[in-house]
Amino acid sequence: MSGLTDLGVADIRDGLRTKEFSAREVAEAFNAAVDGADALNAFIVKTPEKALEAAEAADKVLADGTAGPLAGVPLGIKDLFCTRDVPSTACSDILTDFTPPYESTVTANLFGAGAGMLGKLNMDQFAMGSSNETSARGNVTSPWRRNDGGNAPLSPGGSSGGSSAAVAAHLCPAATGTDTGGSIRQPAAFTGITGMKPTYGRCSRWGIIAFASSLDQAGPMARSVKDSAILLESMASFDPKDSTSLDEPVPHWEGALNADLKGKKIGIPSEYRVDNMPGEIDTLWQQGAEWLKDAGAEIVDVSLPHTKYALPAYYIIAPAEASANLSRYDGVRYGLRETPDNGSLAEMYAATRAAGFGDEVKKRIMIGTYVLSVGHYDAYYTQAQKVRTLIAQDFEKAWDQCDVLLTPTAPSAAFALGDLSDDPLAMYLNDVFAVPASLAGLPAIAVPGGLDGQGLPLGLQVVGKALDEQGVFDVGLALEERSGFTARAEKWW
Ligand code: GLN
Repeated sequence: MSGLTDLGVADIRDGLRTKEFSAREVAEAFNAAVDGADALNAFIVKTPEKALEAAEAADKVLADGTAGPLAGVPLGIKDLFCTRDVPSTACSDILTDFTPPYESTVTANLFGAGAGMLGKLNMDQFAMGSSNETSARGNVTSPWRRNDGGNAPLSPGGSSGGSSAAVAAHLCPAATGTDTGGSIRQPAAFTGITGMKPTYGRCSRWGIIAFASSLDQAGPMARSVKDSAILLESMASFDPKDSTSLDEPVPHWEGALNADLKGKKIGIPSEYRVDNMPGEIDTLWQQGAEWLKDAGAEIVDVSLPHTKYALPAYYIIAPAEASANLSRYDGVRYGLRETPDNGSLAEMYAATRAAGFGDEVKKRIMIGTYVLSVGHYDAYYTQAQKVRTLIAQDFEKAWDQCDVLLTPTAPSAAFALGDLSDDPLAMYLNDVFAVPASLAGLPAIAVPGGLDGQGLPLGLQVVGKALDEQGVFDVGLALEERSGFTARAEKWW
C-alpha cells in the first residue's frame, strides 16, 4: 500500500482504529522502506520479523478493543538502547556481538504500549559526536542534499544521526533518541524533524548504554510535536531501577496540547547571539518570536550570563563521567576480548580497549581521566561543577521573567560529511545552544522552522522549566503551526 510510510504516529494510531489499514500493512510498508534505504546506512540491524510480530499482536488487540496507545506503530530504536536478544552495541567495536538478555526500561515501555521495532539505528560511537562520523558502523548519510548541485553527502547530525535520517526519510514514523548535550535536538534540526529532550529523570536510564550519567536522557524523534508528545507519554516512567528517575506522574501531554499562548512570556536570551552565526539563523529566530507573538505570547529579553562557559564545562563533565562509565569495558564482562600471547591481565585490558574503542572515545576517556586525576580534579572537575550550578541559576533567574526560552537549535545547517572531522572545536561548537539546558536538566524541544538558502532545514529550540514539558510542547506546537514546515528531502536513495 503506498502512502503508509508518510503517516505519523497519531495517523497510524487513529487509522488503525477506524480500520483504514491493518497494522500488518503498516509494518510491511515500513519494512520495505527500511530495506530500500541501505544507501543511508541509518539502520545497522533490521528486525522485520519483530515489526511483523508486534503488528500481528496489534491487529488482534485492536479487534478485541484492548490495544495499548502505540499498538501497531513500528519504531526505529537507537543502538544505545539495550534490546533483548537483539545486538546492542552503541556502534562501538568493543560491544561487537553484545546481545543483551534484558530490555531497557524505555523500550520495554514502548513495546508494552504496543509499538514494534523495525531495527536498531546507527549513531555516534557511545553517543560521542555531533555528525554520526564516530560510529564504528560507518557514516549515516542525510537524506537531504544542498540545492547547489554539488551533491555533497551531508551529515544527519549526531549522535542520534541514524534516528534523524530514518525519521526524515520516512523509514519509520518516529524513533528513539538520547541526548546528553544535544544529540536529539541538533540532528533533529539538521534533518527537519522534531526532537524532544525531556526533563532529566523523566525517562529511565536503565538499560541505556551509559555515556555521562548526570546528563543522559532519552526522548522521542518524530515528524510533529503531537507525535513527540504521544511517544514521550509511553517512554517516560518512574523506575526504581534508576536512582535518578523522577517519581512523578506522567501527564497526558497530547490531550492538553494548546497552541494558544495568551498570557505566556517567551524569553529571548541575548547570549545566544554568537559570532559567525549565519544571518539566516538569526532571521529565523526573529521570525520565531513573531510567530509566538502571533500566538498570543509576550516576548521579553532575558540574560543568561554564564552561557559562554556551558560548552567548556560540558566538555569536562561529560568526559569525566564517560571515563568512569566506560571503565566497565574490560574484555571480561562484555563484548570484545583481545588476548595477546602470554599477555598479563593488564595487557589483555589494554589490547581490548585499544582495539575496541574508536578515537573519539579514547580521547574522551583520556580527557576525563585527566580532569579527575589527583592534582587536576579541583582545577577542572570541581570548577566545571561550580559553573554547572551557575548555569542552572541563570535559568532559575530567567524564570522570574518568562515561562520558556526561544533560541536557535544549532549555529549552522547540516555540514558535509568530513567537513569538521579534523576540527574538534568546530565540531563541539555545534552543541553551543543545546548544552546549557542539558547541564541544567531542563526539557527542550527542537522544531523545524524553515529552509536556508541552500534548501537545508533550520531548527528553533524551546527550553522550559523542569517538569514543564507541556509548556515546551505547547510553544513548539505554536511554532509548528505557523512555520507550516512540510519540506522533505527528495528521494535519491
Ligand atoms: N555532541 C555532543 C558530544 O559529542 C553531545 C552528544 C550527546 O548528546 N550524546 O558529546
